[in-house]
Amino acid sequence: MQANFPCKPGLIARVEPLTLTRAVRGPFDYRLRPEQSDVGVGALLRVPFGRRKTLGVVLELATGSELAPERLAEPDAVLPPGVPADLVELAGWLAGEYCSTPARALTLVLPPGTAGGVSRKRVLVAELTDAGADALGGGAPLTDRQRVVLEALRCDGPTVAATLGTPTLRRLEARGLVEVRSRAQARRPTSVAIGRRLDRPPALTAEQQAALDAVLAALGAGGRFLLHGVTGSGKTEVYLRAVEAALASGRGAIVLVPEIALTPQTVGRFQARFGDVVAVLHSGLGQGERHDEWLRLRTGEAHVCVGPRSAVFAPLADIGLIVIDEEHDASYKHEGDPRYDARTVALRRAEQHGAVVLAGSATPRPESAVALTRLSLPSRIDGRSLPEVEVLDMRGVHHPMHPRTRMALADVRSAGGKAIVLLNRRGWSNFLSCRGCGHVWMCPNCEVALVLHRASGQLACHHCGHRRRAPSRCEACGSVAVARHGAGTESLEQELREAFGPELPVFRLDADAAAGKDRLARTLAAFEAARAGVLVGTQMVAKGHDFADVALGVVLDADQTLRFPDFRAEERTFALVTQLAGRVGRGEDGGKVLVQTLAPSAQSIAYAARHDSDGFLEQELRRRKVLGYPPHGSLIRIVCSAPDAAEALAVATSLHGLIAPAGQTVLGPAPLFRLRGRSRSQLVIKCADRGAAVRAVGAAVDECAADAVRRGVSVSVDVDPQ
Ligand code: ADP
Ligand code: ZN
Ligand code: ZN
Repeated sequence: MQANFPCKPGLIARVEPLTLTRAVRGPFDYRLRPEQSDVGVGALLRVPFGRRKTLGVVLELATGSELAPERLAEPDAVLPPGVPADLVELAGWLAGEYCSTPARALTLVLPPGTAGGVSRKRVLVAELTDAGADALGGGAPLTDRQRVVLEALRCDGPTVAATLGTPTLRRLEARGLVEVRSRAQARRPTSVAIGRRLDRPPALTAEQQAALDAVLAALGAGGRFLLHGVTGSGKTEVYLRAVEAALASGRGAIVLVPEIALTPQTVGRFQARFGDVVAVLHSGLGQGERHDEWLRLRTGEAHVCVGPRSAVFAPLADIGLIVIDEEHDASYKHEGDPRYDARTVALRRAEQHGAVVLAGSATPRPESAVALTRLSLPSRIDGRSLPEVEVLDMRGVHHPMHPRTRMALADVRSAGGKAIVLLNRRGWSNFLSCRGCGHVWMCPNCEVALVLHRASGQLACHHCGHRRRAPSRCEACGSVAVARHGAGTESLEQELREAFGPELPVFRLDADAAAGKDRLARTLAAFEAARAGVLVGTQMVAKGHDFADVALGVVLDADQTLRFPDFRAEERTFALVTQLAGRVGRGEDGGKVLVQTLAPSAQSIAYAARHDSDGFLEQELRRRKVLGYPPHGSLIRIVCSAPDAAEALAVATSLHGLIAPAGQTVLGPAPLFRLRGRSRSQLVIKCADRGAAVRAVGAAVDECAADAVRRGVSVSVDVDPQ
């Protein structure tokens, strides 16, 4: 930008206002007051903006502005601690990469609680004085209560006042026997500890050592690795050693996990190994806790951040390593704007810091298999074998459970063992219909059937959350004959209880059963602690848990994911079956997996049954090459939605007209089912040159923005949709 009015160096701050409207795009210049001379890139300011006040982030400092100094406004306040400069740069990149705006991208990297004005909590701490020590030695008269308190302070050192009784302390303070001071206290999250803890690190296997050596050789220079290890091959131990090495070299590490609630074991292992230098960041924490953990990282008190996708923005000053555990997991994709992919962001952030990326999975994505250097852990720890997988053909079986499945569960019951049963559908039954007139109960906001949840006596929409009372008769014809179709985890739980209880207790794990902060972790811990039982649930039951003694795994409807009209259907199905098998037979006794399916010859299921992930990757990459799907090309999805279908279609059509001439293959507009009361129209751009396509889409969306607003259409862009 041209500086027409040079003034003293460093006096102008270029500020991006944190407003969510697409039309407002900064940065705007503000004149810093002399006492604000220490403001740097990333500082958070409160600035006058039009007739309002807004928060803004300093993108750069300048020595001049296009506007005369007297026409520039001054910031009202500087709000510490601000954002590290490398994260400001990362946000700029994110905005472009995901067709978003700088302001929206910046909201991802702000200190937690910025809007709510959270600050450090203060507590009163009491400490024994010299006079207090004398008094204990008999130098002064003391009541019994006072003596107890002073003794406690002598043994334990400085102690939080409230735990000792403030009135007693105040009296002792008045006599100069104790000192009571206010101190900042970090709110530390507590976690439910489950799983087998190792007190000291085990000796690595030769395979683990070889993988670790490759990572260590790259520490300092940077590198990108895929740790492709079968389930139970000890990937976590390799992560732990790599983090240890990063710390030893004086640098920090980020460890990304799919979902904290589902991976308390992994988090626990990092805390057990490294103690207080581990900070945990996730949305389950209170705002205050999150703020304080963030600050511990920012100030260098903590050097390791463990968390889900948003932890990729952890404010570490010097990152040596970024671990991505279970890199195939769909939760690494953010569904808000910007629709970032934490795995892609991790690669970028690692580049900024010269850090190593270590992504691990038993079922890596084809994208990662191609882009990252492969390290293999081909066998389970202790040479245990992977469980035998049997595919059960469900064609012609009119019951949710195959007779072989029932027999296997009965065997588990008589042996007093454990089983996991996966059914990727919540609720009691899939949908309800009237036997009299065929009426199907649908969501009023979405074009989908409502699901019966019997425990709450409600019908629920799994897309928008709409709920209503379950009907006792048909609203269309008055018939009381209401038919239930299909099974869900809720009815399965009941069925298993009736068939196998009480010797085989049932534990249910799904989004309904798990409402509430620690419920998931508690259910997992209860199943872990039980001597016998069956864990029933959605795909949550298949996530990286390390239970010692699961003898049987069952996938009830393996082709449910296959029926999805999505190019990732094969990949998802393969991962689901393989991951469930991964929970089974980790103990001494081995185990067995049953896979029920209507498509017994599907490739993904066949490869999973053979534990052949190399074979699966090879054929999946070939298939994608033919179709031009990732990694052989990129996809961008644009969804236009509006209350009025015609308006959504109109905007999608004009976007098509703007993007196609830029040399991109544009598919659509195609209608999607109505969601949350909005009709949707979709475009898919298939591109060989992703950068060019992102720019073309960004320009087209900007050009249509005003028209879209006028028509009541919202446009969402998803680069690399999952
Ligand atoms: P993965 O993440 O590959 O599925 P885990 O990291 O859960 O595997 O490891 C499986 C089990 O083996 C864990 O209980 C872990 O503590 C244990 N383990 C890992 N490495 C070793 C080792 N070198 N020696 C003994 N036990 C190990
Ligand atoms: Zn009816
Ligand atoms: Zn709905």
